[in-house]
Amino acid sequence: MPKLEIIVARDAGYCFGVRDAVNVAFEAAEEGGAVYMLGDIVHNEQVVQDLASAGAKVIQSIAETPKGAPVLFRAHGTPVDIWESAGQKNVRIIDATCPLVREIHTEVRKLAEAGRQVIIIGDHGHDEVVGIASQVEDPIIISTPEEAGELRKMRRAGVVSQSTQMIENVQAIINVLMTKVYDLHFVNTICFPTKRNHEQIKELALEVDIMLVIGSFTSANSKRLTQLALERNPNSYQVTCGAEVQPEWFVGVSKVGISAGASTPDYLIAEVRNAVEEISAGAEA
Ligand code: SF4
Repeated sequence: MPKLEIIVARDAGYCFGVRDAVNVAFEAAEEGGAVYMLGDIVHNEQVVQDLASAGAKVIQSIAETPKGAPVLFRAHGTPVDIWESAGQKNVRIIDATCPLVREIHTEVRKLAEAGRQVIIIGDHGHDEVVGIASQVEDPIIISTPEEAGELRKMRRAGVVSQSTQMIENVQAIINVLMTKVYDLHFVNTICFPTKRNHEQIKELALEVDIMLVIGSFTSANSKRLTQLALERNPNSYQVTCGAEVQPEWFVGVSKVGISAGASTPDYLIAEVRNAVEEISAGAEA
C-alpha cells in the first residue's frame, strides 16, 4: 500500500458555538469548583467525561442547583420555562446560548407576532428544537416531507429550521408545504458552520477513496454528516475515536478524507488522523 494521503475537511469538528460553550464550562468549573448543567453540554461522551472530571455536574432540573451556584445554559438554547424557574430560584446563570440559536428564537417570535402559524423543521425532542418551540404558542414540528404531507391546509405560516438540518431535507419539506400553505414565509435558519461543514463533506467524499466521520452516535449532527458521506462514497465510516479505525478498510486506498461533527473536539480528530498515519506507516514498513 502506498503512503496514504490524508485530507481533513477545513472546518471539521467544533463549531464556534459549541467551542465557546465548552470553554466557558471548563472556565466556570475551574473558577468555582463546580458548574451545573441541564443535560450534557454536547452530544459527545468524551467531552462530557472530561468536563465531569473538571467539576461539571449534570442535573435534571433547576431545583437541584444549590443556592447561588452557577448554572450553564448550553449552546443549543434553553426553553423559556427553565429560564423562568432559574430566575425564581435565584441561581447564577452562565448563558452559553449560541448567538445563531438566539437568532432563530427571535425569528420564530417575529413570525408568530405577524400572525403566522409557526412551523419548525427539526428533530422531535432535540434540545435545540424544544428551545425554539418554547418561544411561541402551539408551533408545529415536522422532521420529514411525509409529516409535512399530513398537515392540514392553512392560510399563513412561517417556517424556520433547526440549525443543523440538511438543506435537502428542508427543501423537500418546503416543496410539500407549498402545496399546503397559501402565504408561506420561510426563514433559512440553517447555521453557516453547518452549511459549510455539509458542503465540504459532499465534495471531499467524492474526491477520496475512504471517508471517515468522527462523532458520537448520539449526535444527530455527526450522523447527518455520515449520511451525506455515504450517499456519495459507500466506503465511508463513522468512528468515535482512533481505536475504532480498522486497517482492513484501507486495502486499495490511497486518499483518505476525514471530517467530524460539530460536537467533536480537536483531540479526537488528531487521534483519528494519527491512527490513519500509523496504518499508513505500518503498510509501508
Ligand atoms: S451548530 Fe450552528 S447554531 Fe448550533 S451551536 Fe454550532 S454554530 Fe451555533
